[in-house]
Amino acid sequence: MLDDLLATLRVITLPTRTNFRGVTYREVALMQGPHGWGEFSPFLEYDDNECAPWLASAIEAATVARPARFRDAIAINGTIPELNDKKEIEALMQTYSGAKTFKVKVGSNLTDDVMRVARVFSNAPKAAIRVDVNGLWSVDEALTHLYAYYEEIGPLEYVEQPCATIEELRELKRKIKIPLRIAADEIIRKAPDPFKVDLTDAADIVMLKVQPLGGIQRSLDIAAHHGLPVVVSSALESAIGIEYGLELAASIKDLTFDCGLATGSLLSTDVANHKILDGKIALGQISPQLDGLDVSPDRLQWWKNRIMRVGKLIA
Ligand SMILES: [Mg+2]
Repeated sequence: MLDDLLATLRVITLPTRTNFRGVTYREVALMQGPHGWGEFSPFLEYDDNECAPWLASAIEAATVARPARFRDAIAINGTIPELNDKKEIEALMQTYSGAKTFKVKVGSNLTDDVMRVARVFSNAPKAAIRVDVNGLWSVDEALTHLYAYYEEIGPLEYVEQPCATIEELRELKRKIKIPLRIAADEIIRKAPDPFKVDLTDAADIVMLKVQPLGGIQRSLDIAAHHGLPVVVSSALESAIGIEYGLELAASIKDLTFDCGLATGSLLSTDVANHKILDGKIALGQISPQLDGLDVSPDRLQWWKNRIMRVGKLIA
């Protein structure tokens, strides 16, 4: 089956609008099957083992029918990377038309981070604000930062992966004296087995990213296993990968949080543009155009080799 998909392989490159955690362009492999395009876009530095669920997701997208939908449009959050320029933040926020929630990337510098969170809040005082730390803080740093944000803007909607380990997340929850919800991202997504992670007293919300979790069905299974509210989020994918994330979000009965699926705003070129209307993205609105975006033949070969190696791991 993978051979058939490989015959349709296109690899494209998409420049990002700003430097997003060191990423200035995304290379994205796309394969077309009987049920549409599947996206395989693990970051370039990931080893083959980490890429395995990403490939399983791409194969599922190309070869399995989409699940039944509970809704046809998904409420999204605006994602604000580690920008510090007031005008740049404002311009980016405007691209998330009508978003009622913003997720702010923080973690590397207390002064800049507090200012960024405060700027987003002052531009959108009625919006819910969540922050994503990518596990960068120690428990003490988490306490310092979270109290500082609380002073500045009041309670956050939640904090995503404030510390790296389960023990630290539990300690943070025990020690903090303000209301706090924790969302688990890397601790699930990068676990050798996401089903074996015990989130008791460590997290309140599970982040679901369809590619790193191995597809829609496996994401739904992981959500059911942990029994916590979920937020569907992107892995900075092309509009094709985003569309698959929208399908995952649409297939979840109890979807109470806005989803991080508007990251198309962070790309300066994409295969299609998802329109954001009143803070929501509707499913099924794109017709991808790949022409003019292809990588060089040697990059195409690099991806082909990568897919064949990873394919053997999941065969
Ligand atoms: Mg995250």
